[in-house]
Amino acid sequence: MIQQLESQTEWDVCIIGGGATGLGTALDAASRGLKTILFEQYDFAKGTSSKSTKLVHGGVRYLQQGNIRLVMEALKERGLLLKNAPHLVHNQQFIVPNYKWWEKPFYGIGLKIYDWMAGKLGLGPSALLSKEETLALAPTLDAEGLTGGVVYHDGQFDDARLAISIAQTAVQYGAVVLNYFPVTGLLKMQQKVCGVWAKDSQTGKEREVKSKVVINATGVFTDTVMKMDDPKHESIISPSQGIHLVVDKEFLPGDTAIMVPRTDDGRVLFAVPWHNKIVLGTTDTPVNSISAEPVPFEEEIDFILTHIGRYLTKDPQRSDVKSMFAGLRPLVKGKTKKTAALARDHLITIADSGMITITGGKWTTYRKMAEDVVDIAMEKAGLEKKDCITEDMKLADYSATVIPADINSLSNDELKAIVQQSVTEEMCMTTEDFLSRRTRQLLLDARFAITIAPVVATMLAEEMNKDENWIKEQINNFNAIAKNYLPLK
Ligand SMILES: Cc1cc2nc3c(=O)[nH]c(=O)nc-3n(C[C@H](O)[C@H](O)[C@H](O)COP(=O)(O)OP(=O)(O)OC[C@H]3O[C@@H](n4cnc5c(N)ncnc54)[C@H](O)[C@@H]3O)c2cc1C
Repeated sequence: MIQQLESQTEWDVCIIGGGATGLGTALDAASRGLKTILFEQYDFAKGTSSKSTKLVHGGVRYLQQGNIRLVMEALKERGLLLKNAPHLVHNQQFIVPNYKWWEKPFYGIGLKIYDWMAGKLGLGPSALLSKEETLALAPTLDAEGLTGGVVYHDGQFDDARLAISIAQTAVQYGAVVLNYFPVTGLLKMQQKVCGVWAKDSQTGKEREVKSKVVINATGVFTDTVMKMDDPKHESIISPSQGIHLVVDKEFLPGDTAIMVPRTDDGRVLFAVPWHNKIVLGTTDTPVNSISAEPVPFEEEIDFILTHIGRYLTKDPQRSDVKSMFAGLRPLVKGKTKKTAALARDHLITIADSGMITITGGKWTTYRKMAEDVVDIAMEKAGLEKKDCITEDMKLADYSATVIPADINSLSNDELKAIVQQSVTEEMCMTTEDFLSRRTRQLLLDARFAITIAPVVATMLAEEMNKDENWIKEQINNFNAIAKNYLPLK
């Protein structure tokens, strides 16, 4: 990748940010034949894009808010993702448990509309269930006061693995994607942006990279890059933190997820099976500071445990939490300060300098976001117009063997093979890349991830020709991050 970076004098499209939005944009641009380069300051999907609820959804909640266009668009994208990345996305059955008399007709009708809106791309019909049928699908649901349930379908996926798959597909189409390569400034000529300054974190070397168009796809960091362009820029992002707790499957055995559309303070709550564990979430907490590794607040942990406990026969305790993770939503500021009321729709802006910014949206709609921004970028840069081809594009599954999410039961030889593969085929650079995003060990069981980190660091060092000091540094860095994945109170 670095050789290609050095051999090219000017790019058509330069993308800043390697999350869902940036990687999707790189794939779209490269597959339209544009010379495309992407810079990610840390690892691909290190930010919000690896910390989602892992749902490919139309957004039942937006339906409640009456945002029909948003739901229709997302339902179409949900169907496309299932078709184009069947190795990473699957059909997930959900139950909305009913405890009040009006819930069954209300959610029953709402979810029928949801089915109808999905049309041909629907994943299966919703249905009304009796109390017995509900408990047969979700035996650990609290039976007291339960009157029945409504079953419906959405998609579920592995966010970080999808990001790698999109990156690999983009590379297949000729894109250059670089991780650990922060953009530190913008190149300008006569007040117009004509490229970026990018720094190789490994060597510290900074270089000028010229490009006909520059796209800022930096999620919650959007304003930082916009300020590189215009120091007087007024912030447009209002970050909101959402956390998840991961517990053992015994709390919700079976394959059916639970969706509580409205807790007593108006939030949506999920309990979703994921890689043989259960993900519980989420929260919506406005925050002022932005970090690549946000940490759950105590109140958020308590909120999830208390509320999910109301719906399950066995209440999960802090000691049951195998891991927890926090992500920041890049919500675009509206007229209101209440983040829950802000649009999840995406926003594309073009600065006076010509830099294009794309932000907002959600994982599910990354492809459509990319299509929209590349359409605009081509026009802006006066590039020959070519149609987007990603609607029918299968995403890559390069890996010789599928890298497992959970490495708990692997032998040393198996683990070594996967470490090698993640380095040679997936640009894995650190112990944290491997344990957090190539596999999902840190999110599934943080204690085990901490235990295995020295073994992984040593294997990576062998593969990457690194010394003892590097191994020590890797273990320290990993432990500093991993300790925030355990709720120690
Ligand atoms: C709690 C939570 C749950 C969610 N659940 C779902 C869900 O279930 N389904 C769904 O569809 N969506 C979900 N979302 C939304 C979805 O995760 C986000 O919309 C999406 O991941 C945003 O991707 P992004 O690429 O815009 O931002 P990011 O993933 O944040 O990527 C931006 C990248 O830019 C990089 N960057 C920043 N500055 C620079 C620089 N100077 N140089 C180089 N790189 C830079 C960052 O390191 C980062 O990797 C959820 C979000 C949250 C917070």
